[in-house]
Order: sequence, then structure tokens, then C-alpha cells
Amino acid sequence: MRKMDLNNIRVATSETARDINRRVVLNLIRTHQPISRADLARCSGLQRSTVSAITEQLIEERWVREGAIGHLPRGRKPTFLHLNTDRAAVIGINLRPGRTDLALADLSGRFLAQQSISTGEHPKVFINELINHLRTLIKANPQIDYEGIGISVPGRVDPKTQRLIFAPNLNWGEVDLKTPLERATGLTVEMENAATACALTELWFGQQAEGARNFATVTVSEGIGVGMIVNGERVYGNSGLAGEFGHISIQDAGPQCRCGNLGCWEVFASNNAAIDHYMQVSVNGRSGKASTRGQIAAPSFEDLLRLVEQGNLKALETVERMARYLGQGLAMVIMSIAPDIILLVGEVTTAWSHIEPIMWQEINKRCRIPLKTKIVSSDHTTQPRLRGAVALILQKHFGLP
Ligand SMILES: [Zn+2]
Repeated sequence: MRKMDLNNIRVATSETARDINRRVVLNLIRTHQPISRADLARCSGLQRSTVSAITEQLIEERWVREGAIGHLPRGRKPTFLHLNTDRAAVIGINLRPGRTDLALADLSGRFLAQQSISTGEHPKVFINELINHLRTLIKANPQIDYEGIGISVPGRVDPKTQRLIFAPNLNWGEVDLKTPLERATGLTVEMENAATACALTELWFGQQAEGARNFATVTVSEGIGVGMIVNGERVYGNSGLAGEFGHISIQDAGPQCRCGNLGCWEVFASNNAAIDHYMQVSVNGRSGKASTRGQIAAPSFEDLLRLVEQGNLKALETVERMARYLGQGLAMVIMSIAPDIILLVGEVTTAWSHIEPIMWQEINKRCRIPLKTKIVSSDHTTQPRLRGAVALILQKHFGLP
């Protein structure tokens, strides 16, 4: 018989049950709107009277509004319910080295306004600038009730201290973003690793991982981030550092990584690694020489992808090399958590037809046990990192879908 730890069990109070039912109903309205009360009862399995009591409260609190009246051949005509998208908005921030995007989104996660600012090298200066932009944004829309600010960050957040830790590509060290932003705006600030935020985006707005209890998102940008959902839960591990596959060394004598290690996965498979490699083969005519970035202008990663489209052989060789290294690291992710799905996020997915077969070749070389993981690409034009930042705030009211 398995022993239960009775000290660590919380009894479900009627309040807890009410809260769960409320989230279930609110989520069903979000995903099925417009929906009638009768259909809500059918979908949720809750009693009609419970659904009515919850929806009355949600209407009173202005989360939900009544819309059109439906037509039935007989009986009472149903009134359809919608989310009240006028009620409130959320601010989402996608913090990346170089550029930070800010967005105002409604309760459905639809962007109402967007702007970008450059990400400064000094955290204090950047935070002050960010505060100025947030204050201007909030002042410009005084009619809106703000539910909070969600931030996706290129690093890990300590769940206890809520400080940004381990963000080698920002080169900031440990930073407290939450306290100064909350103090300046009076709003709640929630932070999450960008890859994990993309996992939230998929749970909230996507269809590709529908029904998957185990999946990973891999963000390929300046570095490589991995967010993991295992048994339906986000995985944090010790100090929030779980999922740092990008900083596992895959070559002992590889190039130096910003984390201090040699030969990390991301120094071979990130966008920055590809740009460095392209510069080496373009300038020196062959790989293996020291980086020549700086002597001639390095292309952006988007430029590099355009060159691939134009049939540039050096660019194509660079992206194929990147795909091989992506496959090497993805094999580690697959063997670690045996996910149903891996969602790849980043500009590189626009070259999917080039990279997909190469990635699978590498994975199949390394994973000799029959795993049924699917790898799919996320449309980076839908801005999954930014949408995940919005979902961070939405989930406080709606719970995880
Ligand atoms: Zn590293």
C-alpha cells in the first residue's frame, strides 16, 4: 500500500470548488463563445443552476456579457454569452537582447496596440526607460482597467525571489525587474522564461499541442531555450533552472559560450551561431577560422534566411549545419522527457522544408528507442513569446486551459 503524506494534503473547501468551477466556465466561454448557458452546462457537466449562478456573478463582475438571443424551435430562447473584451486589458512584454516588444491585449489575447524599444545594455537604465513607456501607454488609455503586466524573458526566473537569474545573452547578471515595475505602475508583474511562455501560448491559443500532456517548446533565437510541460504541468526544478538544454556542452573543445562553458548546444545551433558561421565561410572561404564578425557587416538572421531563399549556397550550407546541430540537441530533449510534441519557435522555422529532414536524420541517429515524438513549427509571425507574456496574466483569472 502506498503511504500518503497527510501533512501535505489540502482539503478541497467549497470555496476551492467554486473557484475551480468558475475557471472552468470562464474558460469554456473564452474558447466556445458565443455559448448559451445550456451548452455551458452540457460541456462542463455542471448543474444548470450552478452554471447560472456562476454566469450571473461573471456578468456582474463584467468578465462576461450577454449578446444575441438564439432561436430554438420550442422552449425558452437562449441568450449567448461572450467574454467582455471591453472590460480590461493586459500588457505583454517580450524582452530579448537588442529589442523589447510591448503590446496591449484584450481578454481574448488580441493585440490592440504594439511598440518596440531597444533593450539597453544596463538593466537599471533599461528599466527606467521601460517604466516611462509603460506610464505613457497606460496614460494614453485611461478608460482601460489593466489586469497586469506579463513579461517573457530570455533567461530563468527564480520562483521564490521572482528575480531574473541566468540570462547569459542579456549579460545583466541577477536582476529584479518585478519590484520597480510594480512600484511604478501599481500593476501586478508576472515573469516567465520565453520558451515556457511559448508553451503557454500553445496551451491558450494554439491547436498543435491539443490534448498533449507532455510537450516541449524550443525557442531558437540569440540563444536556445526549452520550456517543458510534463504531465500537464510546467516544470521548474531547482531555482527555476530546469530545461537549460541550451547550456549543455555538446563539444568539449567547442567555442566559448556566454555562460562560461565551452561548446554549449546554443553556440552551435542558435541564430547567432549561424551568423558567425556564415561570416566564417563567406570571408575565409571555409569554416574553422576565428570569427571575422566586425570586418565586414554581418547579416541579420532574417537576411541569412533571405539568402537561402535566393539560393545562396553558403547561406544554405549554414542553415543545414544549424539544422544538424538542432537535431543533436532535440535528441537530448526527446530522450529526457519523451514528449508527445516538440514545438519549435523562431525565425529558422521559415526554412522548414530545408531543416526538417536534416533534424530528423540527426535525431534518428541518436534515439534508438521507438519514441513517437512529433516536431512541429510555430508560426513566429504570430509572436508566440509576446502572446505567452499576455497568457501569464490571463491564466491568473482563467486558470490553465
Ligand atoms: Zn552556455
